[in-house]
Amino acid sequence: MQVIDVIEKKQRGEELAVEEIRFLIQNFSNGHIPDYQASAWLMAVFFQGMTTRETRDLIQAMVDSGSTIDLSDIPGIKVDKHSTGGVGDKLTFLVAPLVAAAGVPVPMISGRGLGHTGGTLDKLESIPGFSSTLSVTKFKQQVADIGLAIIGQSDNLVPADRKLYALRDVTATVKSLPLICGSILSKKVAEGAQALVLDIKTGTGAIIQNLREARLLGRALVEYGNAMGLRTMGLVTNMDTPLGAEVGNSLEVAECIRILSSGSGPDDVIELTLALGSRMLMLGGKAHTVEEGRSILAKLLTSKQGFEKFREMVQAQGGNPEVLERPNLLPKAKFSVEIVADNSGILQSVDALMIGKSSATLGAGRRTINDVIDPSAGITILAKPLDKITAGDLLAILHTNREETLDEVLPRVKAAFIIGDNPPKIRPFVLETIGRVDAGWDGLPFN
Ligand code: URA
Repeated sequence: MQVIDVIEKKQRGEELAVEEIRFLIQNFSNGHIPDYQASAWLMAVFFQGMTTRETRDLIQAMVDSGSTIDLSDIPGIKVDKHSTGGVGDKLTFLVAPLVAAAGVPVPMISGRGLGHTGGTLDKLESIPGFSSTLSVTKFKQQVADIGLAIIGQSDNLVPADRKLYALRDVTATVKSLPLICGSILSKKVAEGAQALVLDIKTGTGAIIQNLREARLLGRALVEYGNAMGLRTMGLVTNMDTPLGAEVGNSLEVAECIRILSSGSGPDDVIELTLALGSRMLMLGGKAHTVEEGRSILAKLLTSKQGFEKFREMVQAQGGNPEVLERPNLLPKAKFSVEIVADNSGILQSVDALMIGKSSATLGAGRRTINDVIDPSAGITILAKPLDKITAGDLLAILHTNREETLDEVLPRVKAAFIIGDNPPKIRPFVLETIGRVDAGWDGLPFN
């Protein structure tokens, strides 16, 4: 089989055979297919899509590119959470320790920054010493011991996603339903989770901006997840505005430390943490209803048990636990610049896409595969839609070590804050539910 024939076939919009998909995925994962040919194939998939059968074969081929972890000897239903990606999306650092503190084991293979959205691994690695590469044995042991481990794809675990993910990030091929399904679900199947709650973001700051397409993606993820043996449900959530107050790797970790250690935080972050976490507790058999799940998690948040669980994970993965008491030990940027409002009124919107892209330009994201991100770069958001603004009020603070980016970024971030006269219409944080927590293990109908 020739790789160029497989690329051409997909370029013509034809359905690939399972052998062709497996050939491509295996040979790319083991280094026999170069990045430029894989990129051409990704672009062909981006434009031509994949059938249901091809997508299922893609997920399986990606799982089979590495080892799969068997967690069956660890008691309890293992439940994971995954987001399709947003701006300021730090929910994993709150949901995962809270759910683990409630007694549901949470195994997680996560990803790095993708497009204008930040990545869980990049954020965690801003904690000095933190390692997201654990051996399978250590990963299992940690899930057994403390009920929580967050690692990345590796040469051994979903290597296909490790390489494709990095390539998609820099070749404008992120926004593809089959590629997103392959990427997310291969990680979840390989890590040994039994159930999954998806946070399907929609709005300006999401990878899939339009609600209709986000719903389609959500349904596809839930359908394929169930078909792969993962009990899967999802929430479609609002990503019109950056989540919480911080965007950028160490800034977001610091914000989560503040929330977990104080037991309170911004409304959007708390609401989504409880909404996603309660579904995880239901799937994990620790709550019967959403309300019960929310109340368990709210208590764990205020009693600081989520904070303790986060500390245990940071320590177990080599991170400096002192950071939890003194977040100023996290990397800090040399330059910070304040942005103030030019006029008074009511804040209508904060364009999450503009903020995500600007944060990446300040150093928080990658432009090429070899770029090293700056853990300290990002943007602090100090006003939210519906806030009353007076000219001169502080709207945001830019943080960077690349002083030369400020001239470009400053006007863009200022333009992301739209001030008007009347209160704007704001969409709820949770827009829709896809799938059911009490659905059978054998999958849900697509419609
Ligand atoms: N998260 C992933 O892991 N992969 C994607 O493609 C998008 C979000």
